Amino acid sequence: MSVLPKPQSGILKIHNYVPGRNKAPSGIKTIKLSSNESPLGASPKAIAAYKNAADNLAIYPDASSNELRQALAKKHDLDAKNIIIGAGSDELLHLLAQIYLGEGDEAIVSEFGFLVYPIITRGASATPVFAKSNDYHTDVDAILASVSENTKIVFLDNPNNPTGTYLNAAELRRLHAGLRPDILLVIDSAYAEYVNADDYDAGIELAQTTDNTVMVRTFSKIGLAALRLGWLYGSDHIIDAVNKLRGPFNVNMAAQAAGVAALGDEEFTKKLVVNNTKWRDWLSNELKGNSLKILPSQANFITVIFPDDTNFSAKKADEILLKYGLVTRHLDAYAMPNALRISIGTEQAMIAVAKQLKIFMGRNSNE
Ligand SMILES: *Cc1c(COP(=O)(O)O)cnc(C)c1O
Repeated sequence: MSVLPKPQSGILKIHNYVPGRNKAPSGIKTIKLSSNESPLGASPKAIAAYKNAADNLAIYPDASSNELRQALAKKHDLDAKNIIIGAGSDELLHLLAQIYLGEGDEAIVSEFGFLVYPIITRGASATPVFAKSNDYHTDVDAILASVSENTKIVFLDNPNNPTGTYLNAAELRRLHAGLRPDILLVIDSAYAEYVNADDYDAGIELAQTTDNTVMVRTFSKIGLAALRLGWLYGSDHIIDAVNKLRGPFNVNMAAQAAGVAALGDEEFTKKLVVNNTKWRDWLSNELKGNSLKILPSQANFITVIFPDDTNFSAKKADEILLKYGLVTRHLDAYAMPNALRISIGTEQAMIAVAKQLKIFMGRNSNE
């Protein structure tokens, strides 16, 4: 009998993350709308900084990403010593799970929350507890009702991926106020740059004024997904704990340099946001009616709920869009098999999506 090295028990319970499809079938030009990336590429200043970095590849990067932390602190009026940069926010989320969760512990996630949360929770041999959503909105009462003596973390993506819905500042404060002080509230504001709602709060104030809140952010949705760059902001004791475990050179030098340049290019970020707001509103308007439910989105995607009818299924719509190179995200992995998540793209892409979905729904409704 062979004896094999055995992973920790939680590892084998992980349902593998399934990334969005990234290609149309061969021979068809791909328009990728499946991973919420920037449709306008990266900031030209970030690209230039990245190229410049090529001259210094032999030298270790700055272990504390100091310049980037200073730039973030200045932009958001924060204390640089309370910022940590990560290789994507994924790395930081992993570290938080590893630090604050262990066997017997529970982490609460919203029913349709980001798939990474249950993965990192199980990875730390803890148990994810799913709090029911309310019409695809994160439900503060359901989260608070899910708290047990074993709860150690609440993961909140706000706006939520993959529904695009958000909790306003008052709801966020109510959620925090209902948690014991030994429960860490992780506010993942990956889409904060795209929010237009006046009553939204990315979590800075809670992270600043409470000892059990940490805010996690990313550059991935604003043009630098390939470089893997994220950051977190929290109290000294959280920063100290994360820094103990974080790899000393976790963020590569080219990513640090491009991040600083991207922060300095406010014009580019503004262009992204203007494009997003315009086409998010336009596509939502075009698609509503047509027997489709469009979830109200504050992010850089919209989520479309298809009717309970095999002729009109999200899966079929996905297949048809693919024939036109339009790669969207069918949400079966998120237990939303009747939904497609569509990243907001260029004008051309949005017009093509609206056209094909309207033809699809019209054709089916005439059958
Ligand atoms: C896209 C996304 C992230 C970003 O992850 P990175 O590792 O920074 O690319 C984090 N959280 C949520 C909810 C997301 O949708």
